[in-house]
Amino acid sequence: MALIVQKYGGTSVGTTERIHAVAGKIKGYVERGDQIVVVVSAMSGETNRLLTLASEITDAPSVRELDVLLTTGEQVTIALLSMALHHAGIEARSYTGGQVRILTDSEHSKARIRDIDDQSVRADLDTGHVVVVAGFQGVDEQGNITTLGRGGSDTTAVAMAAALHADECQIFTDVDGVYTTDPRIEPKARKLDRITFEEMLEMASLGSKVLQIRSVEFAGKYNVPLRVLSSFEEGGSGTLITFEDESVEQAKISGIAFNRDEAKLWIKGVPDQPGVAHQIVGPVAAANIEVDMIIQNIAQDGTTDFTFTVHRNDYEKALDILEKTAVELGAAEVVGDDKIVKISLVGVGMRSHAGIASTMFETLANENINIRMISTSEIKVSVVIDEKYLELGVRALHEAFHLDAEPKTV
Ligand code: ASP
Ligand code: MG
Repeated sequence: MALIVQKYGGTSVGTTERIHAVAGKIKGYVERGDQIVVVVSAMSGETNRLLTLASEITDAPSVRELDVLLTTGEQVTIALLSMALHHAGIEARSYTGGQVRILTDSEHSKARIRDIDDQSVRADLDTGHVVVVAGFQGVDEQGNITTLGRGGSDTTAVAMAAALHADECQIFTDVDGVYTTDPRIEPKARKLDRITFEEMLEMASLGSKVLQIRSVEFAGKYNVPLRVLSSFEEGGSGTLITFEDESVEQAKISGIAFNRDEAKLWIKGVPDQPGVAHQIVGPVAAANIEVDMIIQNIAQDGTTDFTFTVHRNDYEKALDILEKTAVELGAAEVVGDDKIVKISLVGVGMRSHAGIASTMFETLANENINIRMISTSEIKVSVVIDEKYLELGVRALHEAFHLDAEPKTV
């Protein structure tokens, strides 16, 4: 007998038929003797529908009321799923986040979980109930309803699993696991049986949107075994997200992530003197714009060039700020480009292997793809290239690193 927290996303509970199917699936686990806590999202499209309603009322809805509104989506699903479980002959009880008492801070629309009171949930499990919990929501000290950010049901599931010391947290979704890269770009992409938390964080933050990033961080921190599985296919074992296992020979590269959401800014001919980097990045950061890659060139003639990337949504704003800074610094020119992408090779195995970057650069060169920026970390090598070469670049790298084949164990 195991205690399992299962999360079903919006598509998996998108219609009443699918809700019945999910109930059937849960019934299978219950009959096997497992204790099940289910976390659900709103039915697919519902959160967006509610957001549209709010925008029809006002351009600037109160964040408090927005959270009250959006949490109704998940409340519908917990009630319907509990009814479907009853219909299937399974005892079940639903809880909103506030009813469990998922205590969060008061940051509406991006609240963080502080504590979970697991008493009622445990009592229900002990009396043989399936417990159905609304994802994405909590309540602050004052009793205000809060939400955890888009995709936040994943985090609810992981947090419930951590609080209950569950044996596993299973995220049921519309894909059957985590792939070496996006199969829509490279059909030869292979499903990974395992990936480490560190690698998953890189893959997730680079746009492989299988899991909310915060849920992966949470699982890593609290040591929650996390598995991504398909809710539509029977019998698959999905992808297990785990700690690094030194007894297993690691592939050098586990996957290729990419991010279309970046834009590049370039300030040329800046005086090369102490404090310049701060003068350039400071105002951007002060405007709450996240800066990703940064490159400063070696100075020539007493001036230097400075290039950095930001999220594409922040591009115009960052460009405005940089143009002002350029005038203040007496810089030669500001150039921007929002038609770029970042491609990254990710793998904990690269720690002990030289030459990953050189193979990457050679592969791109063979395809005549110009590299605009480069950055590296312990488990990642990233390049910025022109957007139009994204598909070509990903496929060439997938091939060069033999990611379609199972890694050889030595
Ligand atoms: N319903 C919320 C969203 O669409 C939370 C979730 O599905 O995880 O973002
Ligand atoms: Mg999701």
